[in-house]
Amino acid sequence: MDKHALIQRENEALLHTYSRPEVVFTHGNGVYLYDSDGREYLDCVAGIAVCAFGHADERSCQVLREQSEQLWHCSNLYHTQPQVELAEFMVHHTFADKVFFCNSGTEAVEAAIKFARKWGRVKKHIGSPNIVCMRRGFHGRTLGALSATGKAALQKDFEPMCPGFRFADFDNADTVALAADDNTCAVIVEPVQGEGGIYPADELFIRALRKLCDERGMLLIFDEIQCGFGRTGTFTAYESYNTVPDILTAAKPIANGLPLGAVLMSQDVADPIEPGDHGTTFGGGPLVSAVARDVLERIAAPGFLQQVRENGAYFQERLRELQSRRSEIVQVRGRGLMIGVEIHIEPKTLIDACLQQGLLICKTGGQAIRFLPPLIIDQEQINTAVEKFENALETSTEEL
Ligand code: PLP
Repeated sequence: MDKHALIQRENEALLHTYSRPEVVFTHGNGVYLYDSDGREYLDCVAGIAVCAFGHADERSCQVLREQSEQLWHCSNLYHTQPQVELAEFMVHHTFADKVFFCNSGTEAVEAAIKFARKWGRVKKHIGSPNIVCMRRGFHGRTLGALSATGKAALQKDFEPMCPGFRFADFDNADTVALAADDNTCAVIVEPVQGEGGIYPADELFIRALRKLCDERGMLLIFDEIQCGFGRTGTFTAYESYNTVPDILTAAKPIANGLPLGAVLMSQDVADPIEPGDHGTTFGGGPLVSAVARDVLERIAAPGFLQQVRENGAYFQERLRELQSRRSEIVQVRGRGLMIGVEIHIEPKTLIDACLQQGLLICKTGGQAIRFLPPLIIDQEQINTAVEKFENALETSTEEL
């Protein structure tokens, strides 16, 4: 394959919404990706916290193959077994009484906004329900989800935003109490802010939100699209905060790279929803549902999450060791295998230098980069990642 010719063709045909490096990936295996020149990369992006079991995962391939020979798609107008089994699995392993499936994280947030608004109208008799969201939060790029996203830079060229969203400070429950009024139907928060810079919420904040929502009759929505389902070392992120939400949005890892989003909710939230209120052509189809059920079973299996916690702690420890030697590192933070590193260097320079070393990392909010490896990464691979990162720091500093 002529890489440069392909990139040229891309420039001519594809809308320019991403600034991509000059690499074309052709295949992957486990925690590794390979480019068109045959170079190997240790993948600490994993499709941005998506490929929990890495690339070309044998079991996902097998489940997909078997399901593809049975039924690909027949519409949500009809009952299908893989969708029911996936919903049951989520209900049995979380707080949820009911689940709605869609195709992406953003769609899950859009659905959650609608369900919360309907709950506010029907159960609280609010004519125009609003939702309190967090500054620095990220919930997606379609208009509802973008309106709930606390980053003015992402909104400004697409205004007007949807009405009914107010903002408060993450980790400050007093500002949430002030932002909420009698028309507030819900508060939405990421237990660990992902795009904002990898900030795990303080447990006291999350508990205070639960208390506030109970006292004021508001729903608590956890956006666990990036931090949920194994990434932080527990099946759901809320478990580690000892706080149960009323609605939870999920997506990224749940089908190991196939597009699937989900909204999990209590019966109270599900009660007012009727046929026709919401829908999707593709959401929760047989292929993605069959793969997701297998993926979630493996994430929930005894021992797997323990390994994520241990390897996450090991990764952070190795990065903190590096911090003691390298003044470019300001802070290492995160939970499990969701790790942010605040740096003095321009993130793009460091990301490019890592690419040269055969290591994939990506940017997050502020002056920071993220490590979001497949959840199957082992300690030897973590050592390699840290070595490559150190070499990249060396070359980036030389460049400055
Ligand atoms: N919510 C959170 C917390 C996210 O991290 C993301 C994506 O990064 C989204 C929502 C949007 O998900 P998607 O890109 O699948 O639409």
